[in-house]
Amino acid sequence: MNVEQLDLDGSTGEGGGQILRTGLALSMVTGRPLHITRIRAGRPKPGLMRQHLACVQAAVAVCNGQAEGAELNSRTLLFTPGAVCSGDYRFHIATAGSCLLVLQTVLPALMLADGPSKVELAGGTHNPMAPPFDFLERAFAPLVRRLGVGLELQLQRRGFYPAGGGELVAHIRPATASTQSLAPVDVLERGTLQNGWAEALAPGMARHIATRELETLGQRMGWTYEASQLRHPPTRQNEGPGNALIATLEYEHITEVFCQLGERSQSAEQVARRLVDEVRAYQRSAGALGPHLADQWMLPLALAVWRSGQAARYTCTKVTQHTATNAQTIALGLPVRLQITPAEGAMRVEISPAP
Ligand code: ATP
Repeated sequence: MNVEQLDLDGSTGEGGGQILRTGLALSMVTGRPLHITRIRAGRPKPGLMRQHLACVQAAVAVCNGQAEGAELNSRTLLFTPGAVCSGDYRFHIATAGSCLLVLQTVLPALMLADGPSKVELAGGTHNPMAPPFDFLERAFAPLVRRLGVGLELQLQRRGFYPAGGGELVAHIRPATASTQSLAPVDVLERGTLQNGWAEALAPGMARHIATRELETLGQRMGWTYEASQLRHPPTRQNEGPGNALIATLEYEHITEVFCQLGERSQSAEQVARRLVDEVRAYQRSAGALGPHLADQWMLPLALAVWRSGQAARYTCTKVTQHTATNAQTIALGLPVRLQITPAEGAMRVEISPAP
């Protein structure tokens, strides 16, 4: 195995926390030490925030690694991975940092480990600028399962920024103990739309907020309560306060999930209109994956390409800076080649083993 150090410049492209998370994941799966400088230089408050520190600590825990510079506000980190250990882990992310981003940091390593793992996470499940639980469960996890990995997610309690208090459990079962087991998949088309529906979560808030969001969205999308396309899911004890409006589109080959979080400065109608705009933008394109799934799917797929030696592709609605930056980071960390080209009404990402 190549132990050449992986040097990353955290100011590249998007310049956010994703470079750090992808770097940690790459380091754990390849055994290469990670040296990252100018961490989150593209953000107003650069350096490691609690959220990012939680990702570093989780990475240290799953592989008995060592980290120099793992402190709040640190802009440089030297992470030396050890051997990845499957097992039971519990991570508590302070200040309602996103549980899902911590899970995405350790998932690549644990899905290639030598046995099953259970990861319990406490913190935020519905945070700004992070994938909500519902997205991971319905859009991301089914794709990961298509690689041959077992990934089951259980939501115990939702936690909204800034209060947090959410809890979830992830069960990860590597494809097999063999290192050649991941099977890459192509996701080029959505297929036909089989179901589209929305749910409004507003625990600890006035019920009319959820109702107004659903009614505005229903009018614009042509969705109704009668057809079960507008839903008020039950809330659990001690959830909230918080508000999220979520749309789920189930196609033949892919499920996409879009989420807008309520904000004090925005009316319920504005939240609904923002979500409809997001859904409409996805529907106008022919790409199979929406913009968030496109950046998050790249790493698991690249690992499958690396391990199997077989190329794989997907189409997406657009290439965001997150996606472009993740492609650059992955190409530095793994012996794979990533090509992003326009396709008919979409963008096409192809990942192939490096020659
Ligand atoms: P910072 O930007 O402060 O560094 P960060 O660590 O949250 O913060 P980013 O680099 O911005 O890092 O990455 C955020 C990740 O969350 C990206 O993968 C992005 O696609 C994902 N994401 C953001 N919003 C959503 C959403 N509504 N649905 C799914 N994924 C989302």
